[in-house]
Amino acid sequence: MNKYLFIFILLISYNSFSQLNFKTYFKKAENGFELLADNNEYCPVSVEVDLELVNLSTSNGNFKTYVIPARTTGFIITNLKAIKAGGYKYNSKTKYNYGDFAKKEIDTIAVKQQDTVAVEEYIYNLPFKKGKKFKVSQGYNGTITHQKKNALDFLMPIGTDIYAAREGVVIKVVDHNTKTCVTKGCLEFNNYILIYHSDGTFSDYVHIDTNSASVKPGDKVAKGQLIAKSGNIGWSTGPHLHFEVFKQEIIKRETLKTKFKINEGTGSPIYLEEKVKYQRKYE
Ligand SMILES: [Zn+2]
Repeated sequence: MNKYLFIFILLISYNSFSQLNFKTYFKKAENGFELLADNNEYCPVSVEVDLELVNLSTSNGNFKTYVIPARTTGFIITNLKAIKAGGYKYNSKTKYNYGDFAKKEIDTIAVKQQDTVAVEEYIYNLPFKKGKKFKVSQGYNGTITHQKKNALDFLMPIGTDIYAAREGVVIKVVDHNTKTCVTKGCLEFNNYILIYHSDGTFSDYVHIDTNSASVKPGDKVAKGQLIAKSGNIGWSTGPHLHFEVFKQEIIKRETLKTKFKINEGTGSPIYLEEKVKYQRKYE
């Protein structure tokens, strides 16, 4: 280090979810600097790093996407080494979001059959109690608000118990909102629970009632566990549960169609359809 040393740091962050518990930062190291990340979320976070360097080199290339494991602090993204004596600059732009961008196998589970392992589609439970029957008021690619979106709306009265359709880890719980309106401006008032699955996908349970969540971030949730009560909060035209499963990329969310067990659960699992009522007769 010499008297001509000057450092310029600019951190630009973008994420499509509200405020992740995630940050990147530079730290002085031998012969240069380190770029580090702290991920305090309960799922991996993918971060796209765009470095502008003057008189510094990085072993990893100047533009790359990294996956920072859940609950990890001080993760070294890259080492920046001084090339020669003199001044240098570093500048980093980052974009990040929930999930492991590199995970390709989605919505499948490995099933052991004697000595081979087959990959099968995951089968979801209906997200409500045994004995209940609710109509899908809007289905996949529905014309009201589900255009180009694989989401399902279950028409159900406020206060209906919501059960996890699949096991996973709770990532985010928002249930403090109280406002409802029929325009997109109310999107920011949605109450929801976000759950991370073992294959890297997420499920989102939206419009839950105010202060009704019975789980918190970091909780491991079992399939069929009570997680909240349904409501009509946020951008919503009436009491219902909006449910979607998705794979998250840094900017884009790819929603997925998923098969459900219906009735006694003994028949073939199906994709649910709009305007049809589905009953759960299994535990
Ligand atoms: Zn919906």
